[in-house]
Formats: sequence, structure tokens, C-alpha cells
Amino acid sequence: MILFVLLAAFASSSRARTVSECQMLARHGHNAEAQACYQSLTGERDPYLRAEGFWGLKMYQEANNEFRLAVARSDSNATYRVRWGRLLHERFNNRDAEGLFKEALARDPKSAEAYLGLALVSADGFDSKAIQWCAKALELDPQLIEAHELMANLALEDSVTEEALRQADQAIQISADALNAHAIHAAVEILADRSPDAWFAKIRAVNPSYGEGYALVAHHLVLNRRYEEGVAYYRKAIEADPQLWSARSQLGINLMRLGQEDEPRRQLEMCYQNGYRDAATVNSLRLLDSYKNFAVIKASNRILKLPQKEAGVLAPYFEEQIDRSIATYEKKYEMKLSGPVQVEVYADHEDFAVRTMGMPGLGALGVTFGQVLAMDSPSGRKPGDFNWASTLWHEMSHVFILTATNHRVPRWFTEGLAVHEETQASPEWGDRITPDVLLAIRDRKLLPVVDLDRGFVRPEYPSQVIVSYYEAGKICDYIQERWGADKLLEMVHSFAKIETTPAVIQRDLGLTAPDFDRQFWEWLNKDVGREAASFDDWRNGLKAVAQLAKERQYDQLIQKGDEVRRLYPEYVYDANAYEFMAEAYLARGSRQAAAAILADYEKIGGRNPAVLKKLASLEEEAGNSKEAAATLDRLNYIYPNDEQLHRHLGDLWFAQGNSAGAIREYGAVVAMQPKDKASAEFNLARAYLAAGQSEKAQDSVLQALEAAPDYRPAQKLLLQLQDSAKGNDKR
Ligand SMILES: [Zn+2]
Repeated sequence: MILFVLLAAFASSSRARTVSECQMLARHGHNAEAQACYQSLTGERDPYLRAEGFWGLKMYQEANNEFRLAVARSDSNATYRVRWGRLLHERFNNRDAEGLFKEALARDPKSAEAYLGLALVSADGFDSKAIQWCAKALELDPQLIEAHELMANLALEDSVTEEALRQADQAIQISADALNAHAIHAAVEILADRSPDAWFAKIRAVNPSYGEGYALVAHHLVLNRRYEEGVAYYRKAIEADPQLWSARSQLGINLMRLGQEDEPRRQLEMCYQNGYRDAATVNSLRLLDSYKNFAVIKASNRILKLPQKEAGVLAPYFEEQIDRSIATYEKKYEMKLSGPVQVEVYADHEDFAVRTMGMPGLGALGVTFGQVLAMDSPSGRKPGDFNWASTLWHEMSHVFILTATNHRVPRWFTEGLAVHEETQASPEWGDRITPDVLLAIRDRKLLPVVDLDRGFVRPEYPSQVIVSYYEAGKICDYIQERWGADKLLEMVHSFAKIETTPAVIQRDLGLTAPDFDRQFWEWLNKDVGREAASFDDWRNGLKAVAQLAKERQYDQLIQKGDEVRRLYPEYVYDANAYEFMAEAYLARGSRQAAAAILADYEKIGGRNPAVLKKLASLEEEAGNSKEAAATLDRLNYIYPNDEQLHRHLGDLWFAQGNSAGAIREYGAVVAMQPKDKASAEFNLARAYLAAGQSEKAQDSVLQALEAAPDYRPAQKLLLQLQDSAKGNDKR
């Protein structure tokens, strides 16, 4: 009541206004009065006040100009720089904002607001520094409400719910107007599937048009992969405040993630036209425009979107793997999907990256939003960088697990299961343990299972996301090995009831979480402890091998190389011992030994296309054309954008009498629109003929002759086909 009287007094008074009066009016949703208040500030003589006035009126350019003037006039003033930084942060310019916060700290090392600014900038990128900056702000000013609210938000992003609530309550204790703190409470209730109504009622009582509260909740729903509910809350946000462009933009982006196009375009264009042009909005609009360059291939259980120029060659391989993975997972997870899965494949990694903007987990190869999944095309990365089929199976596992749990599953478990599934699908798939992961194991940096989510969202060291994927995957391997695959499914169902990680581990595995950690650690140590412990020996040994290669000391290299690869057999990345040894064997003329070492490389998960092709040619040379074909076929799941690969594999399979395989491979050659179209079509015709599909054979041979009318072998084949057709007619 007192507050209301106070506000009324602010609103009616004709004396000069202060910035905090205007902010108070705005915070309480007295929008017209707030506008008038800000308007009056723009007439002040002090450029800083004018800056605040224009900012309040959303006249950002004018505000920016006035801040520049204010700072030039009062160089020693830290607050002006902080406020200017906050404006720039709001207007998508974090780099300059960060500079201003740092300049402010140079002028006032005790500026809690400047540290808060730095925390806000870091928070945007899920940088773990955000927590440090925010803690510093609170240390300097324990009454800083916004810092408590930010800390609560960061904790909830990391799934540390108790800390989130503690910080939110501190903010509310300082001021009942701490609306974001109320929204944190609401988010916690919704994430636990309880009613948030009481908290939203409190927010509405203070400010009925406070859309940010709903948007904050939506953000956490999306982070927890509850996309449809997130969309519903973004709708509530813009209903409360139609000009809350940040929420409208997120609404558009999340609708895109659910596979929609028309409404996202409308929403995003509205944001753009109203000057809300952050990177996510602009790039998402660009992505919508590029949809016309995609081929869409529909079946009852899937919608496959491929880059137009690659669709011909990729489609058969993708269709095969999507169908296989659906069949496998339906059986394994004992369920069916309710609608078709949409698989989007991006040849331009930047386009794919737009899909994951504002989400944690950098450098991902794929991402799943319910029944829509997006991933890099093999051509979107350096050949051999990843195994696309493995990524597809990973993402398809998410599709099933998110559906099975109604999107209520902790990040570590769904990621762990997806990583686990990659090697279940094929032991050669999945990522091999990297040096970063080995070092983390050696240095005991793995997280306890109850904290593992944090490792995915806000890494404390650069490789922690990768390490966390590995750890989560291994946890699922361990559970399967010790308790059986059914146990994993049982855990899926437990998580679906929103049980916590410690509760699920206790109930389904009969262990406390700390006991589980200890026993898992012991198991993992048996597996890779020796490799981790001898990491330095391996690294030094590999350097020595590289040096011996340079010096062409092949005998020594082979001996040393063999020693080195045994220290860390899964090292199949750049400059690995297998390749050095193969080269040494070849230099000595031991082609069989070279083939043998490269076969080891292949079996343990090596995927460099050039190396695997070399292996295939050595196998062929030794008369093992079946193995050579199998080696080349593996490349189809790594880097199929390779005409030579398909031609050669087609030839091998044709010669081996595998006409279905030859049809697929020669078909891929044709789809790549090769320079030598005639021979490609001719080969395909022969494969069709061998498979008894003479009509298709005739089509292909006619194509060959259209490309090269004088092509003798094609002419002969056409005659042969026509003769046998006549023969058939007679009968
Ligand atoms: Zn994943």
C-alpha cells in the first residue's frame, strides 16, 4: 500500500525524476508512467540521465550516443561505464560490454555492478567464469538482488536445485520485488511437475506484464529438453508482454526446432523488423531461407531433409541407417514412436550450428529436439572427422529416450545411453578415448555421477564436455556389463517418473551414489587405468616414433612403434603409431605386415579415409577382395562423398556377385553426376542386369548412350537387352 502511494507520487510529480524512480515504475508494470518518466529524463542537461531516458524508451542508438558523451565527460566514473556496458549487453554486443565492465573495474575495483556485468556476459556462453564473477559481485555487495537472481539461474542451469532456491530466497528476502527469483521458484516447481501457480500469482501481483518471468521458466524447460512446454511458456511470455522480443525470438527458434517453418518465420521477422537482431534471430531467418535448398524425402516413419546437391548420393545410406536404428530401438526400448522422425542433415556446419545456438555443449555433431534431429553432413566436416552413422544412431537413441521419458531424463543419462548405443550398433563406431579424456582420468577429474550434468552444461576446463560424454557412456557400459541391458531400460522408466539420480541408483542398482562412483571407478581403472598411468611414456614414445620416421630409421621405428601403440591402443587420431608403422613396413617392402597393422587400426576404430583406402588396396593386392570391399564399405559411413570410393567398391562387389551392393554403389556414382557419366550408367546397367532387373538395366544403358552415343560396350549391352526382351515376348 505504501509502495503504491509512493508510486503514485512519483507518477504525478512534476519535479525532476531520478533514474531509479523510472526503473521502479517500469518494474511494477506502470508502463505509461514509466515512459513519461523516461521521456522527462531525455530533457535533462546531464548526458548520463539522457542516456538512461533514451534507453528506457528503447531508443538505443540515442542512448548509446549519450553514454559516449557521459563517459567522455566523466572519465573516472565507473557507474556510467557499467550502465553503458549493460546497454550493450542487452543489445547483443557482449564484446564491447565486457570491455566497459573491465574499464569500470579499473576505475573502481570494488564495483559489484561491474562484476555482475562480467557475470552476465559469461553466462550467455555457459562459461564457468560466470559463477566466479557473480560470487565476486555478491562478496562486494551481498544486497545486490540481481546477482542473487543470476546465481540462482546459473545453479538451476547446472541442475543444482537447492543452491538455486537458496539464492532465490536471499533475493526475495532483500526485496519482495525480486521477480526473477520468484520465476526461479516457478521453474523449480514446473521441472518437478508441480504447480507453479502460486509463484506466478506473486509475480503478476507486482507486475502483470512481466513476461520475463515466463521466459525464464521457458529457458529452463528448453535446457531440460522439454521443448513443447518451453514453447508454451514463451507464448505466455509474449502474451504478457507482446514487445518482449527476446522471448518472441526464442519462441520462433524453438518452433523451428520442433520442425515448423511458417510461424517461426512470422515471429522471427517481427523481431527483426522491430530491431531485435541478435545473432540467433538473424541466423535462424537465414536458415529458414536456405530450406529451399533441401531435398525432402518422406516415408511413413521418417522425413529426411538432405542438402539438394548431396541428396542423391546420401539418401540410400541415410534411409538404410534410419530404418535400421528405428527397428533396433523399437525392440530394445520396447516402444514405438508416435509419429515420423525428422532427420535434418546440414552440409554447412554453420547452418547446423544455428540449430544449437544458445544451448550448452560446444562442438556437437548432432542435436535432437524430440522427434526432430539435426546433424552435420559428412561433407560438413573434414573427411574422417566423424562417423555420421554413429552420430545418427546416437541422436536416434535420444529420440526414443526423450519420448519414453516424456522428456524427463537427466542429461548425463540420456547422453551416456546415446554414447553407449554407438558402440552397440557397431564396435568400430563411436569415439575412441582421446588424450584429453585419458589425462582427466589420470588426474582424477571425473565427476561424481550426481554432479555429472554440470560437466555438460558449464565446463570447468576446456575438455570437460568431451570427458563427461565419455564418462556417461562408460557408466552405461558398466551398468550393462554388471547388471545387464534390462537394467538400463529399467532406469529409463525410473527417470520417466522424475526420480533423481541418487534415488534411481539406489532403487535400481541397490547402491548409494557414492558407492556407485567408487565401484564404477574401480571397474574403469581396470579398463583404462594402465593407459592413463603410462600417458607420458606414450606421448614421449610417439614423439620418438615421429622422429624415427623423419630419419627413415624403419627397423627402430617398427620396434618402438609397436611398444608405443600397446601403451594406448585406442589412439587412432592424427599422427598415430599404426600409420607410422604401416609406412615403415611399406618402405621396407613388407606389404603384408603393413596390411596387418592397418587392419588393427581399422578394428580399433581408426577412420581416416585415406588410410582405410590404403588398407583396402593392400587387401586387394593380397587377393582378399572380400575384405577390401568390407573396408571400403566402412567408408560409406564415414565419408561417402567420394566418387572413386563408390566406383571401386561397385567393381569389387560386381565381381563378387553382390549385385545389390553393386547397384547401390554404382547408383551413388551416378548420383554424384560424374564427368564420365557414360561409364557410370553402363556399370549400373550391368549391375541391374546381373540382379535380373532388365527394365532398369535398359534405362541406365540408354542414359549411358545419351551421354556417349558411340560408347561401344553400351551399344552391345543394349542390343543384348533388346534381344532377350524379344526372346521373352516369344515365350
Ligand atoms: Zn547426445
